[in-house]
Amino acid sequence: MARNGTVRAVRKPTRRTEVGRGERVVPGVWRLRLPLPWPGIPHCNAWALAAGDGLVLVDCGLDEPGAMRELERAMEQVGLRLADVRLLVGTHAHVDHVGQAAALQARTGCGFWLHPRHEHLAVLSDDAAGELSRRIEIARQSGVPEEPLQRWAASRRAQRPGLAGPLAPDRDLVAGAVVESDVGPWTVYETPGHAPSHVVLHQPERRLLISGDHVLGRIALYFDHGWTPAPVGEFLASLDTVERLDVRLSLSGHGRPFTDLPGHVRANRELVAQRLEAVLAGLRERGEAAAFELLPDVYGEHSPGMAAWLLTKVLCYLEHLERRGLVRRTEGAPQTWAAVDASDDRPGVPAPVSDPP
Ligand SMILES: [Zn+2]
Ligand SMILES: [Zn+2]
Repeated sequence: MARNGTVRAVRKPTRRTEVGRGERVVPGVWRLRLPLPWPGIPHCNAWALAAGDGLVLVDCGLDEPGAMRELERAMEQVGLRLADVRLLVGTHAHVDHVGQAAALQARTGCGFWLHPRHEHLAVLSDDAAGELSRRIEIARQSGVPEEPLQRWAASRRAQRPGLAGPLAPDRDLVAGAVVESDVGPWTVYETPGHAPSHVVLHQPERRLLISGDHVLGRIALYFDHGWTPAPVGEFLASLDTVERLDVRLSLSGHGRPFTDLPGHVRANRELVAQRLEAVLAGLRERGEAAAFELLPDVYGEHSPGMAAWLLTKVLCYLEHLERRGLVRRTEGAPQTWAAVDASDDRPGVPAPVSDPP
C-alpha cells in the first residue's frame, strides 16, 4: 500500500488496536506483522532472515510513536533481537515499509539497501510543503472542488509524515543485487509501478518471493503518480517479470503469505484491464470529463476520504490510455479528457488496453 502518492487519501488515524506479532514461515524466515494506524490496512509485514550471526530485515514499518517497540515485540515473540539486525533492505520507498529506516539505522548501526528511485518518498523529508502544493495543484487541475480540496490539504498538514528521518541508504538495490541469508541468496528484480523504487526478492532454491506491495494476497492496485512517465505500463511489465519466476510461496507487504502467484498475477492484469475499460466507458458516456468526475464511473460509490487515493489511480489510467492513443487531453482548466473514437484519424484496430507501452 502507499500513503505517499501524488494525491493522498484523507484517512483519519484510528486508535491502534493491533500489536506487533511474529511467526516463523520456514526455518530462517520470519514474518513480523507490524500494526498500522490506517483504517482498512491494519498492518504491514517486515521479514526477518537469518544471516550468519545476525539478521537481514526486509522492510521495517511506519514511523510513529511506539512503532519501534512493536517491531521489537514482534521479533521477541519468535526469539529474535533487534540488536542483531545487520542489514535493512527496503522493498520500496513507502512510509509503511521504510518509515523507521533512519531510526533503525541509528539504533542498530545496520546497513540499508534501497532502490535509487526513492525521490518520491525523499521529497517528504526534503520539501514536504512544496510537495503538498504540487499535489494540491494537480488535484485542482483534475477538477477537485475547492472546499473538499482545502479540507484535504488541512488534514495532510496535520498528519505525521511517518518517516523517522531522511532516507540514507548505503547501497543501491538494483537488478541483479543479491541479499545473502541462511536459506540461500535472494536475487533482486526491479518491479516499478506500485512505486518507482519497488523491487522483489526471489530465493530460487526455496521458491520464495518477497513480493512487497507489487503482488499482494488480496488484489489491490496502487501506483505512484507523477514520478515516472508510465506507472501503469511499468506495473504490467513488472507483473511479467515476476510471472517468469519459479515461486511456491509469496511473502507480501501486507496480509498472509500466499501461493498461486500466477493466479494473482492474472487477477491483477484483469483488474487493471477492467479499470481502464471503466475509464474509457466513462469518457465515452460523458463525452469529455475531468479526472475527478470519472471516479464514480470507475469506483462507484466511495467515501470522500478515499477520493484522493482513487484520483491518483484514475490519473495513472488516463495517462496510460493516452500513451496507447485511446484518450486525449483537451484544452481547459480544469484539465479534461476525451476518448479517441473510431472517427479520429488513427490507423488500425485499437490494441488491448492493458498492454504495456
Ligand atoms: Zn506501497
Ligand atoms: Zn504497503
